[in-house]
Amino acid sequence: MTSNLMPALFLGHGSPMNVLDDNIYTQTWRDLGKRLPRPTAILAISAHWYTRGTAVTAMAQPKTIHDFGGFPQALFDTRYPAPGSPSLAARVQQLLEPVAVHSDTSEWGLDHGSWGVLIKMYPDADIPVVQLSIDATQEPEYHYQLGKELAALRSEGVMIVASGNVVHNLRMVKWQGGDEPYDWAESFNTFVRDNLAYRGEQHPLVNFMQRPDAKLASPTPEHYLPLLYILGAWSGEEPISVIVDGIEMASLSMMSVQVG
Ligand code: ZN
Repeated sequence: MTSNLMPALFLGHGSPMNVLDDNIYTQTWRDLGKRLPRPTAILAISAHWYTRGTAVTAMAQPKTIHDFGGFPQALFDTRYPAPGSPSLAARVQQLLEPVAVHSDTSEWGLDHGSWGVLIKMYPDADIPVVQLSIDATQEPEYHYQLGKELAALRSEGVMIVASGNVVHNLRMVKWQGGDEPYDWAESFNTFVRDNLAYRGEQHPLVNFMQRPDAKLASPTPEHYLPLLYILGAWSGEEPISVIVDGIEMASLSMMSVQVG
C-alpha cells in the first residue's frame, strides 16, 4: 500500500477565464479538493513562472499575480490569499541540492497557473502554497529528475500540483470555439495519454520533442514541462490516471492527471 503518499496532480489550466467559469474542468478541480486527503501544504509548479535557474517562493504571504491581459475586471479583482510556507521552501531547497534553488521573498507570488486552479480546489485559501519555478535553460530530462527528488514531499503531507497544458498552441487557437481539434493536437494528446504509465528508460514523454507533432502541440515547452515533475513524482506502483480530458479551441489540451 502506498496510501500514505499524498496524491500528485497535473492540471490542465487553460484560459484564465476558467477562474470565473463553471465547466467540466473547474468542476473536476473542485471535486479533487473535496475527495483527496487534505494536504498540510501545496507545492505548485506553474507554466507561468519560467525562469533562468530554479527559484522557490519563500515569503510568508505570497501576492496574487494577474499575469494576463484583456480579460474582465472581475478576474483582476480576484485574489487568492493563501499563506506561503518558508519552511516548505527551505525543504524544497534541501531536497533539490546540489541544484542551487533561489529563495524568492519579493519578486514572484502565485501566478494564474497556480491560483487559477487552487481557487477551485481550495476556495478558502487556507492551505499554505509555495511555488517552484521552471528553469527555461534546462532539458526535459532535468525537470523529470527534479520531480523524482521532490517525490519525498508526498510522504510529508505535501501535495504537488503542477499546472500547464500538454497541448498548448495559442497562435493556432480558434477563439470562436466549436471547432474540431487539429489532427496534431489530437495525436499528441493521445500520445501523452498512452504513455503516462511508461516505466522503462528513455521515457517517451520526456523525449517528446522527437515527435513530429510536438512542434505544433508544444511550440514552446513551458506548458508541457510541469507534467514531467508529476511523472517524476510517480512511484511506478500506484495508479496514474487521466481524470478529465478535452481539447478546447482546437489547440489547447485540458487533460488533467492524478498520481496516487
Ligand atoms: Zn497558461
